[in-house]
Order: sequence, then C-alpha cells, then structure tokens
Amino acid sequence: MAVPPVPASRSEYIWFDGDFIPWEKAKIHVLSHVIHYGSSVFEGIRCYKTPEGPKIFRLKEHIDRLYYSAKVARMEIPHTRETLATACVDAVQKNGFDACYIRPVAFRGAGSMGILPRDCPLHVAVAAWPWGTYLGGDALENGVDTMISTWQKMAPGSLPALTKIGGAYALATLAKMEASRLGFAEALLLDSEGHVAEGTGENLFAVLEEKLYTPPLGFSILGGLTRKSILQIASDHAIESVEQPLSRDFLYMADELFLTGTAAELTPIKSVDGLSIGTGEVGPITRRLQTDFFDIVHGRTADRHHWLTLAADASEVPRA
Ligand code: PMP
Repeated sequence: MAVPPVPASRSEYIWFDGDFIPWEKAKIHVLSHVIHYGSSVFEGIRCYKTPEGPKIFRLKEHIDRLYYSAKVARMEIPHTRETLATACVDAVQKNGFDACYIRPVAFRGAGSMGILPRDCPLHVAVAAWPWGTYLGGDALENGVDTMISTWQKMAPGSLPALTKIGGAYALATLAKMEASRLGFAEALLLDSEGHVAEGTGENLFAVLEEKLYTPPLGFSILGGLTRKSILQIASDHAIESVEQPLSRDFLYMADELFLTGTAAELTPIKSVDGLSIGTGEVGPITRRLQTDFFDIVHGRTADRHHWLTLAADASEVPRA
C-alpha cells in the first residue's frame, strides 16, 4: 500500500540568521549556491509532549552532529552551539507547540556563481512544525513493507555518509520515490559492496535468535541518534547487540527487523521485497525496545540517560 505524503505543516515563526521572522518571510534567492549544488547541512530533531511540558530529544548531540556535518562541508557556522540549541528551544516555545519536529539548517547563500562557493554567505535557519507518524498511520503499531532499492548508497570515498549534507539526499529522494511508486513505505539501500546500509532516513536493525544486529559506523550509514539510543536501551535490557555488516539475505532470515530515526522513531518492518519477516507480526524484542523508547521520550518513565531537554526553560539548554 502506498503511504500518503506527510502533509506540509507550518508554524508561525522561523528563526533565520539570528531572529525569529514570520514563516512566509523566510525566503532565499534563486541563485543561492545551495539550490544549485545542495550545499546545506541539516538536522532533524523531535520534541515530545510530556507531563512536564515539551521536551527535546538529544538536543546537544543533534547540534554537535550539525557542527560535524558543517566541519566536513567546510562551512563556518557563524553562531555558537549554545545559540543554535537555544534557537531550537525558542522555536518550540514561540510557536506554542507541545510536540513537534525541529529542523536546523545551515546553507550557502547567493554570491558568485560556480561550484566553488566564493563570497556565498552562510545562512542558518531553525524551523519547527508538528509532525506525526512518518511512515504511515499504523506503522508504529503494525510495521511497514519495505523493498531493497535499485539505488545504492554512495561508496566510501564518495559523499560522506556520516554527515547530513543536503546534496546527499538527492539519492535518498530517488530511492524513496521508487519505493513509493511501487507501493512500499520505505526503501532499504545496499552499500557499494552489497551489504545492507540503511533506509532513506533511518538506520536498520535485525533480531536473530534474540540478538540485535545493526551495520557499524563507517559502512555507509549515518550515525543515527535513535540508533545510539536503541543500542543503549538494548544494553539496559541485557539484550546483546552486534555491529557488523549485514547481507541482504540476512534480512530475509531475521526473526524481526525494524527501522530507527528521528522521523520514523522505532518502526517495525513487516516485509522486505514481499517476503514477510519472522511471523509477520511485530516481534517481542522490537516491541520491548519500542515501548521503553516511547515511555522515556513521552515522560512515562524516568529519563535515566538524560536525553531530554525541557523546551520551556532556556537554563536547561545544554552548554557546548
Ligand atoms: N540515516 C539517514 C540517512 C538519516 O537521514 C537519518 C535521519 N537523521 C537516520 C539514518 C537516523 O538518524 P537519527 O536517528 O539521528 O534521526
């Protein structure tokens, strides 16, 4: 079944180069370097509704990853980490959200034309909008159907997979459109060696004989913060996890499979290439990890790893 697109959502204000401005005024020039060459770095962060107010998940780590992406892209972000973390908190507050998705983005603006970004000012924006379940209505509950994409992840030595550089998402878009056209909720991409890397915006986990498997960093994946959190939760539950390259047929053999990501959260996978995974139902380990993850982020259980920042109090903003 094709998944309907996430509705375009908006907010009242967007933080743009240091100030909040009305949503409709947050515009750029058509000759901006980013439009032609994909020269942006970005983050995706979730803010969850909790009984104590809106809380942002792993804010410091997301900001640190933004600066890491900028470093690789050789972009000087003209703000401190603390300023951007505060802009994220303020974007939630100013728009009056109790839960939302936050999108910080830094990009090269209009200067001289040509690939070499000469005299292109670096702009930074932080937007926020309400964003529900990413992979379809009952995805979290019942899982999704996926396919192995005909598109491969970029080879090591090509675009840096550990960064969130905007241009790299042209590949993700091709894979996602292919999956959507063929009626799948998500595409899984192999790396240039044929190992399974990840989804278009998610890391991949397999469960086999009660052990958790996921591809290691350095093997054409993004170092997902949800991935890192799930590895921590698995260790809390004394579930053994192994980071190793996975073959395509390992997925078909797995008892359980799931995707992790800020947008997709922890989404079970029902099938790959029309082959059902395990019993075809969401497996017990997937459900256990998912339940604990959601209990933490929604404030139903203690934030035992200090992953949440209250988006109501600037003094809570993690110091760089
Ligand atoms: N892989 C890719 C390619 C992604 O874009 C994302 C989303 N940021 C992820 C994995 C998951 O990372 P995270 O859990 O930090 O959102």
